[in-house]
Amino acid sequence: MSLEIINLWYVVAAALFIFGLKQLGSPATAVRGNKLSSIAMLIAVVATLFNKDILPWEWIIGAILVGSLVGAVTAQKVEMTSMPEMVALFNGSGGIASLMVGWAALYNLDNTTFTHITILLSILIGGMTFSGSILAWGKLSEVINSAAVVFGAQRFVNAMILVALVVCSVMFCLEPAIDSPYLYAVITLALVFGVMAVLPIGGADMPVVISLLNSYSGLAACAAGFAINNNILIVAGSMVGAAGIILTNIMCKAMNRSLGHVLFSGFGAVKEATKVEGEVKPINSEDAFLILEAAQSVTFVPGYGMAVAQAQHVVRELGELLEKNGAEVTYAIHPVAGRMPGHMNVLLAEANVPYDQLVEMEDINPRIDKVDVAVVIGANDVVNPAARNDENSPIYGMPIINVDYAQTVFVLKRSMASGFSGVDNPLFFGDNTRMLFGDAKQSLAAVVAEFKT
Ligand code: NDP
Repeated sequence: MSLEIINLWYVVAAALFIFGLKQLGSPATAVRGNKLSSIAMLIAVVATLFNKDILPWEWIIGAILVGSLVGAVTAQKVEMTSMPEMVALFNGSGGIASLMVGWAALYNLDNTTFTHITILLSILIGGMTFSGSILAWGKLSEVINSAAVVFGAQRFVNAMILVALVVCSVMFCLEPAIDSPYLYAVITLALVFGVMAVLPIGGADMPVVISLLNSYSGLAACAAGFAINNNILIVAGSMVGAAGIILTNIMCKAMNRSLGHVLFSGFGAVKEATKVEGEVKPINSEDAFLILEAAQSVTFVPGYGMAVAQAQHVVRELGELLEKNGAEVTYAIHPVAGRMPGHMNVLLAEANVPYDQLVEMEDINPRIDKVDVAVVIGANDVVNPAARNDENSPIYGMPIINVDYAQTVFVLKRSMASGFSGVDNPLFFGDNTRMLFGDAKQSLAAVVAEFKT
């Protein structure tokens, strides 16, 4: 295939990526957007591999089949609750791929100084993204403790690694060679720096890290695109990089934190929150039903526990019953509820909850005191009043859905355990709070059963 034809296909792929991204912006068109983007990726990969007859076509078809099989099986098998871990692994794969592409590009004999700089960047950012994402995966899947790891002189150690990284990078660019000791130093230091950068981030700040690593994986791919002079890699990489930065910004706003604060404060480990004490008032499904039956307005506040329990369908069923009973029903969505951006929207859309019943945090909070019953379904950190009231709390300052201001609050969870950030929740001891202990799906099904009898 001639270079002109290949570039033409790249234009088609880039256009499809842009349309796909646009459609991913709304739950109604997201599935189509995803399909468009996958077609774009297929076009990009096939066109690239036919370039200069890189590989015999049998190999290309074989690799596409094997890759598609692995992707399809993994996507089918992965639980909805494990999606964030999968995203972390995707980011990591992108990072290591860019590192290897950059490394391989060193074998080109006609590299310019500019190319060597982009090779260096793809190795450096790719390496950091890889090790940082693997650590983020470990924290998200709780294979390792998700809390922030902070130790004395951490900033000094990080600063030293950064200085060494810059020095070795400059030395490598001055005398680039495939066997340069500075190349190996950059690879090692980049991998170490990725780990050191994610270590002090824990608890509720993980959404910011995931979106930032996503952005890094795009930037690494973009640098790799320059390194091997591949237009579609540059375009797609910069799109991922930009989208990731926009998402990071949204997540920072949702947490009410600056990026610098998230990256350098060692959030979640430095402060000792005020001890929460009081009396818990459990409730059973029959009493919960009686209160709900009398309610004029009910707001569901879903969180990670709804995803674990897969309770979204029974929530919708209860919502419909309440509406039939004359209540106004809304679903209040916190931007970092669950374990990935848009997690709750995806689950509720899957259960066919009407979009117009979904309300953002900023819209529900001013009128939450008029809500008769706020039903918290497996949410914890995103409704923790300590974020508003306790200056010593590690999550102080993070905006929450103020369910404690509602007339009555039901909290559906299995135990008194804390949420992802490991912080106790005074909501559970509130005068107007009733704890409906148990798996959220079973508890809701029991209330639905009461409604039907
Ligand atoms: P949390 O993780 O704070 O709390 C979830 C609660 O669900 C737990 O307290 C748990 O309590 C309960 N739960 C678990 N399983 C069930 C079940 N089967 N039935 C009923 N309850 C259940 O979730 P939130 O959504 O409130 O907050 C999200 C947290 O995750 C925030 O700290 C956020 O920063 C962080 N995060 C968010 C990401 C994002 O992009 N959205 C990414 C990474 C992290 P119990 O065990 O007692 O049942």
